[in-house]
Amino acid sequence: MTAMVKAEGVHKSFGAVEVLKGIDLEVAPREVFCLIGPSGSGKSTFLRCINHLDKISAGRLSVDGELVGYRQKGDKLYELKDSEVALKRRDIGMVFQRFNLFPHMTAIENVMEAPVQVRGEAKAVARARAERLLDRVGLADKAGNYPSQLSGGQQQRVAIARALAMEPKLMLFDEPTSALDPELVGDVLDVMRGLAEDGMTMIVVTHEMGFAREVGDSLVFMDGGVVVESGNPRDVLTNPQHDRTKAFLSKVL
Ligand code: ADP
Ligand code: MG
Repeated sequence: MTAMVKAEGVHKSFGAVEVLKGIDLEVAPREVFCLIGPSGSGKSTFLRCINHLDKISAGRLSVDGELVGYRQKGDKLYELKDSEVALKRRDIGMVFQRFNLFPHMTAIENVMEAPVQVRGEAKAVARARAERLLDRVGLADKAGNYPSQLSGGQQQRVAIARALAMEPKLMLFDEPTSALDPELVGDVLDVMRGLAEDGMTMIVVTHEMGFAREVGDSLVFMDGGVVVESGNPRDVLTNPQHDRTKAFLSKVL
């Protein structure tokens, strides 16, 4: 089976600073892959590389069997043009800590925007899907609300619906609940749990260890740009092998 994401010796430097120092990992289709680690360990950078927002400095990174950023012809590699990168990115949904909804558009208009503007879909088709997606994230009754009329948790659920509207094969979540008031976190995690149950392949950077334990299929602990430890979330969380993992978990658990 082709891995949905495969990283082999992935390095990333910004100038003289090496942020990713050789990441090896594999995410299988339909897997919920959780990524944890202290601030500055390179988690966001890794997600950004998967989504063509940052370019790796060395190694190999592929999504669904295709190298990120390159087209292979025979044994030669050609850098993708911007238009080709844009096409690839359509297949990947990303949800950030900050929801970044378009403030001048209602919830449903936010969800319809990409299919209509990027894919040229008919508005009626996009609207029907957006209604289904808002229903799926529990916000059918908020379709006409502007972001300023929604709570942070509701805005984040609209952001998830917006990412799903492009029917991605992979969803990347970068600390999706970190900016939320505690009482709003559960609804967002429930939506993510539902997505996992529906078989979506997800990479989730999170400090929500309960979610990682219950929903995650794999857990990776990153520190200083390397994978320190990985495995079944329950094993890693209850029986960490490395001192760095133990030290980190003692602070967040
Ligand atoms: P995490 O998400 O685990 O907190 P990041 O991937 O955001 O970590 O950052 C890892 C390191 O890379 C940090 O030291 C950060 O300052 C640095 N970094 C991230 N993006 C850039 C950039 N565009 N230019 C320079 N340094 C960066
Ligand atoms: Mg980050």
